[in-house]
Amino acid sequence: MRDLMALTERAEVISLAGGLPDTASFPPATYASVMDRIALEACARALQYGPTEGMSAMADCIIDVMAGEGMHVTGDDLLVTTGGQQVIDLVCKTLIDPGDVIVAEGPTYPGAVPTFSSYQADVVQIPMDADGMRVDELEETLDRLEREGRRPKFIYTIPTFQNPGGVTMSLPRRERIVRIAHERELLVLEDNPYGMLRYEGEALPPLYALDGGEFVIYLGTFSKILSPGIRLGWAAAPQPVLQKMNIGKAAADLCSSSMTQLFVANYFASVDWRRYVESLRDIYRHRRDAMFDALAEHFPREAQWTRPEGGMFIWATLPDYIDTTDLLARALRENVAFVPGRAAYLDGRGGSSMRLNFSGVSEHDIREGIRRIGAVIAEQVAL
Ligand code: PMP
Repeated sequence: MRDLMALTERAEVISLAGGLPDTASFPPATYASVMDRIALEACARALQYGPTEGMSAMADCIIDVMAGEGMHVTGDDLLVTTGGQQVIDLVCKTLIDPGDVIVAEGPTYPGAVPTFSSYQADVVQIPMDADGMRVDELEETLDRLEREGRRPKFIYTIPTFQNPGGVTMSLPRRERIVRIAHERELLVLEDNPYGMLRYEGEALPPLYALDGGEFVIYLGTFSKILSPGIRLGWAAAPQPVLQKMNIGKAAADLCSSSMTQLFVANYFASVDWRRYVESLRDIYRHRRDAMFDALAEHFPREAQWTRPEGGMFIWATLPDYIDTTDLLARALRENVAFVPGRAAYLDGRGGSSMRLNFSGVSEHDIREGIRRIGAVIAEQVAL
């Protein structure tokens, strides 16, 4: 699969495989003026190491972003990280010994799969439906694990616009997961890169807001609201976990980039960051709708796909005699790519599903890409 994914990077390929934000829409003049100001006013600091927990000016930006989703924190609750990805790594580094159980959604974020594997975690995946993780199945699984004497180290969930599933956990399920965490004294890692990218419907409170910062470790990132190239994310976590993560981060990379932290701080001070997010929502809403239309036109009638109200991904499932890893090899010959569903499972499931990204390509390429995938599927169906 890694070899196939490497091929998706070729310039002639329409890649619906990535999870790329539309950085081309960021105004170059804003970039230039922010960088100019850093050069003239904070050059030495930008080129210097900073504190492991992150610069205090960054904490103010994070507090602002979290407040936008109804969460209230102070700088002491936060650890600035090198992308949200590092939060997943640090939580595993802090909590996981080989063989320990992590409970996650099935499918789960493909980028977390190698992280969990590298810490030799035993990942138990709970199915989802249109309301997110099946919490009844979660409770049954937790009971079974308890009978086996295996206590999960944490539950990993992406409740809003799940990657790759595109579904959002309902409010009753959110409340129930938080209740389960309290009753069983279980930690939850809530991964929320997409919460601000809502194109329709009412916002729901993050688990972190419902929990009050007791059992939920929150992962946030600037990647999807500003830029993934700055590589900045954060964790908000209960103190005992946060302190261990801080030690783990110092061991990993000492601190995140001072230069890009100053970029965020200066950007937040000089422009209304919400307006840029608003412009992204506008672009992605149109791209999502273009993908919905193209799927309806070009995918077979037996295919099913999710209808995300936000985020960046649609999860499509084909008849089960079609293997999407084989299909990707064929699709690449037609210069189009997607993520085969197996990448989102640790146990070989997901073989007839695929993740389709709509944020990183133009509406024209979305239509053409889906047309090509549809044609390759039609060949398979005819075989
Ligand atoms: N979690 C999820 C669910 C993601 O989709 C991503 C980005 N694709 C990340 C974490 C990590 O992103 P970053 O390191 O750029 O913040």
